[in-house]
Amino acid sequence: MKLEKYSMGVGDRFGREGGAQVRALEQAAARGVDIVPVWNKSYREHQIVGTTPADARVAADTGVNERAWRRSYYVDADHIGLRTVDLFLDSSDFFTIDVADFIGQPADARTIDAYVAAMAPHLREFPIDGVRTTTRVTESDLVAIARKYLLAVTEAAQIYRHIERKKGARAFVAEVSTDEASEPQTPAELFFILGALAREGVRIQTIAPKFTGKFLKGIDYVGAVERFAAEFEEDLLVIARAVQVFDLPQNLKLSVHSGSDKFSLYPVMHRAIRKRDAGLHLKTAGTTWLEELVGLAMGGGDGLELAKTIYAAAFDRIDELCQPYLAVIEIDRARLPAPRAVQTWTSEQFASALRHVPSDGRYNPHVRQLLHVGYKVAAEMGDRYHAMLTRSRAVIERHVAENLFERHIVPLFLGS
Ligand SMILES: [Zn+2]
Repeated sequence: MKLEKYSMGVGDRFGREGGAQVRALEQAAARGVDIVPVWNKSYREHQIVGTTPADARVAADTGVNERAWRRSYYVDADHIGLRTVDLFLDSSDFFTIDVADFIGQPADARTIDAYVAAMAPHLREFPIDGVRTTTRVTESDLVAIARKYLLAVTEAAQIYRHIERKKGARAFVAEVSTDEASEPQTPAELFFILGALAREGVRIQTIAPKFTGKFLKGIDYVGAVERFAAEFEEDLLVIARAVQVFDLPQNLKLSVHSGSDKFSLYPVMHRAIRKRDAGLHLKTAGTTWLEELVGLAMGGGDGLELAKTIYAAAFDRIDELCQPYLAVIEIDRARLPAPRAVQTWTSEQFASALRHVPSDGRYNPHVRQLLHVGYKVAAEMGDRYHAMLTRSRAVIERHVAENLFERHIVPLFLGS
């Protein structure tokens, strides 16, 4: 199974918006850019919503059938580890192997020595053309990289081989993610992590490093865009070189997690992938449900009331809802309007506070982040929430498709 050059992580909390997301990809194809969808849902998300990996497969198949999509599509077991992988084996054909927890724990001395001996000849790959931040890597740098990452790679390899045994060697796409690590990886670290994965026989097609700056859920990038731009392009160069040197899959590409709403980055990412003729995977699924809320609010009446009820409950349960996401959200509670105030809002006020249009003075990133993690409230409403989604189908689908196409695909893949 060979993942295409451009792909997007899609899907949604409640599995209803697949067709609308495929529609956005059809619009991209009509403009000359082929992007394939990868439905992704993590174990954490399944637990909170009360769904299973089989439901993600159903959501994907339904979305694809709705639109008679004829290109490839995938179902991603997002952020799995050895403890959770088995639940996803039947329904997934894409596995995001998350080994961030193992970073910084050193492997045993013999493993490190063997790795360093095998990699030492590759120290002379540096400087890599265009990679200005790392011109030279010494053997002691290599030892430090091994001590920091080798155990994580060994763990990834163990999970990879487990999947391979169960599904067959070429029956799945593998990604390795370290994006939830505490520190960003340097280009040299990325290069030698790829060397370590190749040495273990892990045929990864996408890798999700941790980039510099903050990738918070549902809001724009927080950090120095210029610095990110340089790092991103260097990562592309490092990957291209590593593919040659370590004989990794030719289509190996970067994966950007928490990729929705990073509006300030899309232009620089677009320029870099065009300039280097590189592929890209961008995960966006988590914010799709916010477009459902926008749609409900815009529909007025009961839909708007329900959206307000969800906000009020999320406001009351903020600690509980934020807890699983503390590392990836930043909510200033002083900037959250009281539910009593929100109760008086019109459709337009609610939608404008939530909708991520940075130029709109009414946009409130704190409200947006709270509702982003507030999907548990809607999940607990069960049929009541689903019935409302059914009633407001047309307006919701319009918002979902428009958000994905206009705000994400156009600047990132089409470049305007
Ligand atoms: Zn991630």
